[in-house]
Amino acid sequence: MKAATRLVNFDAGPGDPFHASATPVYQTATFEQESPLEFGAYDYTRSGNPTRAVLEAQLAFLEGAVHAFAFASGLAAITAVTRLLKAGDEILAGAELYGGTFRLFSRILPRFGISVRYVDAGDAEEFVRAVSARTRLAYVETPANPLLTICDIAGIGAGCRERGIRLCVDNTMLSPWLQNPLRLGADVVVHSATKFLGGHGDVTAGVVCTNDEEVAETIGLVQNGEGATLAPMESWLLLRGLKTLALRVERQQASARTLAERLAQHEEIGRVFYPGLAAHAGYETQRRQARGPGSVISVTTGSVERSAEIIGALRLFRNTVSFGSVTSTVSMPACMSHASVPTELRAGHAPPADLIRLSVGIEDVEDLWLDLARAIERTADGAGPKVTGATQLQGVGHVD
Ligand SMILES: *Cc1c(COP(=O)(O)O)cnc(C)c1O
Repeated sequence: MKAATRLVNFDAGPGDPFHASATPVYQTATFEQESPLEFGAYDYTRSGNPTRAVLEAQLAFLEGAVHAFAFASGLAAITAVTRLLKAGDEILAGAELYGGTFRLFSRILPRFGISVRYVDAGDAEEFVRAVSARTRLAYVETPANPLLTICDIAGIGAGCRERGIRLCVDNTMLSPWLQNPLRLGADVVVHSATKFLGGHGDVTAGVVCTNDEEVAETIGLVQNGEGATLAPMESWLLLRGLKTLALRVERQQASARTLAERLAQHEEIGRVFYPGLAAHAGYETQRRQARGPGSVISVTTGSVERSAEIIGALRLFRNTVSFGSVTSTVSMPACMSHASVPTELRAGHAPPADLIRLSVGIEDVEDLWLDLARAIERTADGAGPKVTGATQLQGVGHVD
């Protein structure tokens, strides 16, 4: 069965006596037991719930994983992965990460004796060379948020295996429809299911996938033992969203390609960051390891004021954090999602202050282009993009 078929054809209600076509929402905290000595398949929803189990089976299938675990948010899922470490251990992380991951890594983990070192993951060999005696986990995003920097999963995975450490990839930006890091050599995959997996901007959820039995045992223990599990109703919403994953992602990506190409030609726009453009630094690697560049595009305009004006003039692109919804959204990562980038990293790796991040939805692409073109023209002073020292990029791989 091909993945697109499996998205809608699966056992929606295992054991359901009425053969429900859609997965029942088992909105219950407890399950009655046969007797104090005989336990059924489920006893308590934190430990296991049939709606969540159907979702986890779908997610495992999509990532080519044996095990998938659904959490209450992407950050709860990432936190669970960090439980693979103990005091004294170190995470070697890519230098471009989601803002909330930086907050977890820099402000919370050190309280428990776990340190994090950030190294540019753009060059796989250089990245794995930074593994130290204390490193237990490598952690990267690709395409990374919000500059869409690409790293070579297979290259980093091979280097990590040689050095006896595990690699975790945050696959949120492409979704399993476009990229499967486990097949490329990653040991663990995490998702913020709040983005493409849910796809409608109405659920907060996270996922951990793995084929490593030792990892699975720990994540399962953490899911039950710390309790940040995904609730039955949220599991159901995700299952519903997943049915259209292929349609949504393909449509959003097709529109994003069109918009990225037009933006790259627009004289009022500075840099365009989109892995589907041949000028993108990670273009070749991206083509090798993924089935498409996704639907998030970042652009610069030359000044924070200009970017803010453009966002203010947009009507269809809604000014919200997050991405991956059927509705197009726009944000300024430097002051929104990435306000938590640690100060020591800001110089080299913080998003440029004038960066606009667009998440392309399923609307008509010409309506979206009209919205963008109008907003850009309405706010133009005729001088074109002004690249000032303060907004110039340093360090990270990027397109010119
Ligand atoms: C949103 C996001 C997260 C965090 O997920 P939440 O569901 O918001 O907790 C992690 N990684 C990436 C790449 C994200 O975009």
